Amino acid sequence: MTTRPTPPKRTLFWRGVSRACPVCGKRRLTRRVVELADECPRCGLVFERAPGHFVGAVGMSTIFTFGLILISLLLGIWVLWPDVQFLSLALAPLAIATFVPLLVHPTAKTLWASIDLMMNPLEPGEALGGYSDEPSAP
Ligand SMILES: [Zn+2]
Repeated sequence: MTTRPTPPKRTLFWRGVSRACPVCGKRRLTRRVVELADECPRCGLVFERAPGHFVGAVGMSTIFTFGLILISLLLGIWVLWPDVQFLSLALAPLAIATFVPLLVHPTAKTLWASIDLMMNPLEPGEALGGYSDEPSAP
Protein backbone atom coordinates (compact mmCIF):
# COMPACT_ATOMS: atom_id res chain seq x y z
CA MET A 1 0.00 0.00 0.00
CA THR A 2 1.27 3.46 -0.91
CA THR A 3 2.16 6.11 1.64
CA ARG A 4 2.00 9.82 0.92
CA PRO A 5 4.82 11.78 2.59
CA THR A 6 3.76 13.90 5.56
CA PRO A 7 4.58 17.59 4.89
CA PRO A 8 7.25 19.32 7.02
CA LYS A 9 6.15 20.61 10.44
CA ARG A 10 6.30 24.29 9.42
CA THR A 11 4.01 23.58 6.45
CA LEU A 12 1.65 21.55 8.63
CA PHE A 13 1.46 24.35 11.19
CA TRP A 14 0.82 27.08 8.63
CA ARG A 15 -1.85 25.07 6.86
CA GLY A 16 -3.55 24.28 10.18
CA VAL A 17 -3.59 27.91 11.30
CA SER A 18 -4.86 29.09 7.89
CA ARG A 19 -7.76 26.61 7.95
CA ALA A 20 -6.36 24.52 5.08
CA CYS A 21 -5.93 20.78 4.73
CA PRO A 22 -2.65 19.94 6.48
CA VAL A 23 -1.68 17.37 3.84
CA CYS A 24 -2.46 19.05 0.50
CA GLY A 25 -3.18 22.69 1.42
CA LYS A 26 -6.73 22.69 0.00
CA ARG A 27 -8.74 25.62 1.35
CA ARG A 28 -12.47 26.23 1.75
CA LEU A 29 -13.02 23.10 3.78
CA THR A 30 -15.98 24.45 5.73
CA ARG A 31 -19.62 23.72 5.10
CA ARG A 32 -21.62 26.78 6.00
CA VAL A 33 -19.34 29.06 8.03
CA VAL A 34 -18.46 27.04 11.09
CA GLU A 35 -18.59 23.35 10.15
CA LEU A 36 -15.47 21.61 8.88
CA ALA A 37 -15.92 18.95 6.18
CA ASP A 38 -15.43 15.34 7.25
CA GLU A 39 -12.64 14.79 4.76
CA CYS A 40 -10.55 16.77 2.32
CA PRO A 41 -12.18 16.79 -1.14
CA ARG A 42 -8.75 16.87 -2.81
CA CYS A 43 -6.56 14.37 -0.96
CA GLY A 44 -9.20 12.44 0.98
CA LEU A 45 -7.66 12.98 4.42
CA VAL A 46 -10.26 12.15 7.04
CA PHE A 47 -9.81 14.96 9.55
CA GLU A 48 -11.11 12.98 12.51
CA ARG A 49 -8.46 10.25 12.38
CA ALA A 50 -9.76 8.42 15.44
CA PRO A 51 -12.88 8.62 17.61
CA GLY A 52 -12.53 11.53 20.02
CA HIS A 53 -9.80 13.04 17.88
CA PHE A 54 -11.15 16.58 18.14
CA VAL A 55 -11.13 16.79 21.95
CA GLY A 56 -7.81 18.57 21.54
CA ALA A 57 -9.40 21.07 19.14
CA VAL A 58 -12.17 21.78 21.64
CA GLY A 59 -9.50 22.29 24.30
CA MET A 60 -7.55 24.73 22.13
CA SER A 61 -10.73 26.62 21.24
CA THR A 62 -11.70 26.80 24.92
CA ILE A 63 -8.29 28.03 26.03
CA PHE A 64 -8.27 30.69 23.29
CA THR A 65 -11.80 31.86 24.17
CA PHE A 66 -11.10 32.00 27.90
CA GLY A 67 -7.90 33.91 27.20
CA LEU A 68 -9.85 36.52 25.25
CA ILE A 69 -12.46 36.71 28.02
CA LEU A 70 -9.74 37.27 30.61
CA ILE A 71 -8.13 39.99 28.50
CA SER A 72 -11.49 41.71 27.92
CA LEU A 73 -12.29 41.59 31.65
CA LEU A 74 -8.93 43.09 32.57
CA LEU A 75 -9.26 45.78 29.91
CA GLY A 76 -12.83 46.49 31.05
CA ILE A 77 -11.77 46.91 34.65
CA TRP A 78 -8.88 49.13 33.58
CA VAL A 79 -11.09 51.32 31.37
CA LEU A 80 -14.05 51.55 33.79
CA TRP A 81 -12.05 51.99 37.00
CA PRO A 82 -13.12 53.18 39.63
CA ASP A 83 -16.79 53.02 38.58
CA VAL A 84 -16.88 49.33 37.55
CA GLN A 85 -20.41 48.05 36.96
CA PHE A 86 -21.19 44.42 36.32
CA LEU A 87 -23.39 44.89 33.25
CA SER A 88 -20.98 47.13 31.37
CA LEU A 89 -18.09 44.88 32.36
CA ALA A 90 -19.90 41.69 31.23
CA LEU A 91 -20.98 42.76 27.73
CA ALA A 92 -17.72 42.11 25.90
CA PRO A 93 -17.02 38.74 27.61
CA LEU A 94 -20.57 37.60 26.84
CA ALA A 95 -20.14 38.50 23.18
CA ILE A 96 -16.77 36.75 23.09
CA ALA A 97 -18.16 33.64 24.78
CA THR A 98 -21.02 33.52 22.30
CA PHE A 99 -19.30 34.09 18.97
CA VAL A 100 -15.60 33.31 19.24
CA PRO A 101 -15.98 29.52 19.73
CA LEU A 102 -18.17 29.31 16.63
CA LEU A 103 -15.70 31.22 14.50
CA VAL A 104 -12.53 29.63 15.90
CA HIS A 105 -13.63 26.01 15.98
CA PRO A 106 -12.92 25.09 12.30
CA THR A 107 -9.45 26.63 12.60
CA ALA A 108 -8.90 24.76 15.87
CA LYS A 109 -9.86 21.53 14.09
CA THR A 110 -7.46 22.00 11.16
CA LEU A 111 -4.72 23.11 13.55
CA TRP A 112 -5.33 20.09 15.74
CA ALA A 113 -5.26 17.82 12.68
CA SER A 114 -1.90 19.41 11.79
CA ILE A 115 -0.52 18.91 15.30
CA ASP A 116 -1.71 15.31 15.22
CA LEU A 117 0.08 14.76 11.91
CA MET A 118 3.27 16.18 13.45
CA MET A 119 3.06 13.52 16.16
CA ASN A 120 1.54 10.70 14.09
CA PRO A 121 2.60 10.91 10.42
CA LEU A 122 0.37 9.64 7.63
CA GLU A 123 -0.11 5.90 7.64
CA PRO A 124 -0.07 3.72 4.52
CA GLY A 125 -3.27 4.20 2.52
CA GLU A 126 -4.22 7.45 4.25
CA ALA A 127 -4.95 10.62 2.18
CA LEU A 128 -4.23 9.03 -1.17
CA GLY A 129 -6.73 11.00 -3.23
CA GLY A 130 -5.50 12.93 -6.25
CA TYR A 131 -4.16 16.45 -6.01
CA SER A 132 -6.65 17.75 -8.56
CA ASP A 133 -9.80 19.68 -7.74
CA GLU A 134 -11.48 17.91 -10.62
CA PRO A 135 -13.83 15.10 -9.65
CA SER A 136 -12.30 11.73 -10.50
CA ALA A 137 -13.74 9.70 -13.35
CA PRO A 138 -16.04 6.86 -12.28
ZN1 LIG B 1 -6.17 17.54 1.51
